[in-house]
Order: sequence, then structure tokens, then C-alpha cells
Amino acid sequence: MVTITYPNVLLDALEIGVMIIDETFEVRYWNQWMEINTSVRSSDIIGKNLHAFYPDIDYKVLSRKIRTTLRLQSPTFYDASLQNRFIEIPRTKITTSLLKYMQLQVTISPYDVEENLVMVSIYDISDLHELKLTLQSQMEKISELNSELHRDKMIIDANLLIIKIDSECRIVEATQAFLEFFGYQSENVVGSKLAEVFGDASVDFDTVQICDAIASQKKWSGEVKARLHDEEQVWFDAVVTPFNEENDAFCYTVIFNDISDKKRIELLSITDPLTKLYNRHKFNEVFENMVQRRHWDENHTFGLIIADVDYFKRVNDTYGHQIGDKVLIEVAHAFSETIRIGDILARWGGEEFVCLLPAVDKAKALYVAEKLRLAVEQLDIQNVGKVTASFGVTIFTAGDTQESMMHRADSSLYRAKENGRNRIECL
Ligand code: GH3
Ligand code: MG
Ligand code: MG
Repeated sequence: MVTITYPNVLLDALEIGVMIIDETFEVRYWNQWMEINTSVRSSDIIGKNLHAFYPDIDYKVLSRKIRTTLRLQSPTFYDASLQNRFIEIPRTKITTSLLKYMQLQVTISPYDVEENLVMVSIYDISDLHELKLTLQSQMEKISELNSELHRDKMIIDANLLIIKIDSECRIVEATQAFLEFFGYQSENVVGSKLAEVFGDASVDFDTVQICDAIASQKKWSGEVKARLHDEEQVWFDAVVTPFNEENDAFCYTVIFNDISDKKRIELLSITDPLTKLYNRHKFNEVFENMVQRRHWDENHTFGLIIADVDYFKRVNDTYGHQIGDKVLIEVAHAFSETIRIGDILARWGGEEFVCLLPAVDKAKALYVAEKLRLAVEQLDIQNVGKVTASFGVTIFTAGDTQESMMHRADSSLYRAKENGRNRIECL
């Protein structure tokens, strides 16, 4: 019979639990760590059967492990085979009843083969276990974040029109949504310059402002319009954002937001439905801006023309309201063909039209009014024939308001009517 000296200084000094048992589970040695952590004194348990103290341990499994250990006589083998396993043999039983709140790892190694003794070492790996759990939960979080990121990326790719461009204005990346919107394949776009991609016949897209922003390395946002494959015009709100790539190269994202609906509504709110000219609301807005401009630009002046179709009531009475409408459309068309870009032509209401002429003097305003008068006179309207209009002209003078100018132009028009119609008067 092997006697193990007790207390054994060496085994007691260890920061691990050590018990020596034989294959019938009789306890031969129980070190200090075991006493402290199990509250079972060695003098009480040595010579007794482990079973009497811990009936919950799975003794079938423990017995098999002990026999294998003794048969193979190789502690290394058992160390290896049991390493990193949380007390697989008496695991849950020991952790719950013998050593509460501790995560243990048990190694069974042969102690004395002739006596069939094994040494059971019990390592407290609670800290390690905790670490492992933390690590595991962090890994789970990372993987969750990753999949969220992936999902977000998929949503962005499928729904948002975004391109990444380099400082040469060359497309580096485009979302699927972008490609689909413009009817491109990735290979036709990536690597090409923005102006080349949008310069072809099918997509008429003015990208000058975007390229300018990139050339000046600035953040920019604004409205851009495109016409796709002979379809209706599309409006975008574009946002250009510069950013530094990992390799320090300067890149830009351009996010396009389709604002065509907003634009359509905006256009409706400023358009006269019959003639498609600006309506009175838009006219007043521009008019007010022009008057205001005088406050900071002394040299600024502009002209105002009011036109009124002569004897229009007769047209309606003779040919009906619908034909009357047609006359108004034709007159509006003749007017808009005659004015210059920058002039603001609007339907004031009924058969009256107004026109603002930026940067003109009286002579120039009268010249434009005469052109407008001729344009109406020269019309030959189906069913109706000839129509004429009278014109009142005025020029902005110091101290003018919108009302005072309108009043003068109206008086001029009245005078033109009085003096025989189909003529121009200026006050
Ligand atoms: P004058 O030469 O003095 O301007 O005579 P007039 O007949 O043109 O003037 P009046 O103001 O008497 O008549 C304007 C007519 O315009 C009366 C109105 O029914 C008609 N009118 C106003 N708005 C519309 C419209 O949207 N469509 C049509 N068809 N007629 C309109
Ligand atoms: Mg009238
Ligand atoms: Mg009239």
C-alpha cells in the first residue's frame, strides 16, 4: 500500500486541486486546495469512498477514465485527451455540488499503476472560462454587426443611386440601383469618365457641375437634370462628398436622389395650365426680385409690358369659349417665340399677358413690344383668322414698387385701347 505523506508540502503548495484515488474511488490524498474549496477536510475523507461524499458524480464515466489511464500508463495521453474539456467526466456534478461557481478542468494521470492509483488534478479555469464567454459574445456581436452591415450594404446597393468617383472624375464603383436606373452594365461604367458615360446619345445628363466640384475638391450639392432614352426628363438632387481612401487617395461619392415628382409639382405651381406660360404667382415672385435688386444694384433697370387681346369677348361670343382658348394658346406661343431667354413672360389672367424685360431702356422695351404686336398680328388662326393685341409699356424708375409699375403699364394699355387698339403706349 502506497502511503502518501500528509501534509505533502509540494502538493499543498499547488494552486490546483489534487486528489489521489484508486479505481474503487477510495480517496488516498486530498490536498489543501481541495479542503479550502470543498470544505471537506482531508482527515475526514482520506480512506473513505468518494461516493459517500459525492453521490452525484457519474461514477461509470469516472471509472472508465481511471481504467483507461491505468491501462495506457500515459499521463501525457490523458492530459492531452482531457485538456480543454470542462470536467467531462464528473463535470456538471462536480461543478454544481463539489465546487460551486467554478469552472474546472480535470486531468487524470496515473499515479501508481501497481496500486491502481490515479492522480486527479482539478484546475480552476473560471477566469479563462469567463474570458472565453466574453470573447464568444464579442464574436457574436461582431458577426451580428457584420451581417447588419452586409444587409445595409445590400439595401443601399439595391435602392440608392450612388457612384464613387476618383479625382479624375472616373467612375470607380456604382450601385446596382444606379446601373439599373440608367440602363448600364457595370463594365460599361466602371473605369470611364463621368462625362463620357453620360455624354452618349441615350442619356443626356449634364454632369458639368459635378465635375467642377470634383476639380475644386469641394463638397457640393445641387439639382441636375437628365433625359433618359427619349423618356421624360428626370431631376436629381445630387450630393458630392469628398473622402480619403485608406491609401490616402482622394475619392468622391455622388448620391443621386430622384426629385422629378417634386419638380413636376413645383412646375405645376408656377405654370398656367392653359398656355403653359408662367402664372401670375411666378411672375409676381420674379417681379419682386427685380424690384429688390435695385436696392443693391443702382444700375439695374428693367421694362414691363402688359398685353391684352383686342375684342376678345367677340371671339368667344362668335366662335365659342373653346376656340377662344385656342386663340389664347396661339397668342402665348407667338409671344414666347418672340422674347429672348431671360425675359419673363406670364399669363396675368384672362386674355392679358405680362412680360418683364431685364436690363432694357425705354427704346428697347418699345422695340420688344412692337415685335410682340407684330407676332400677334401676323397670326392666322384657324376658324378665327386675324387677331390683334394692345400693349402698355413702362420702365422701372427710382422709387418704383411693383404696384406703381403695374399701375403705369396698365394706364399705358388703357391709352393704347383708347387710341384705337393694336398699338403700343408707354408711360
Ligand atoms: P378689349 O379690346 O377692350 O380688351 O375687349 P375685350 O373683349 O378683349 O375685353 P373684355 O375684358 O370685355 O373681355 C375679355 C374676355 O376674355 C371676357 C372673358 O370671357 C374672356 N376670357 C377670360 N379668360 C378666358 C379664358 O381663359 N378663355 C377664354 N376662352 N376666354 C376668356
Ligand atoms: Mg382684358
Ligand atoms: Mg381684351
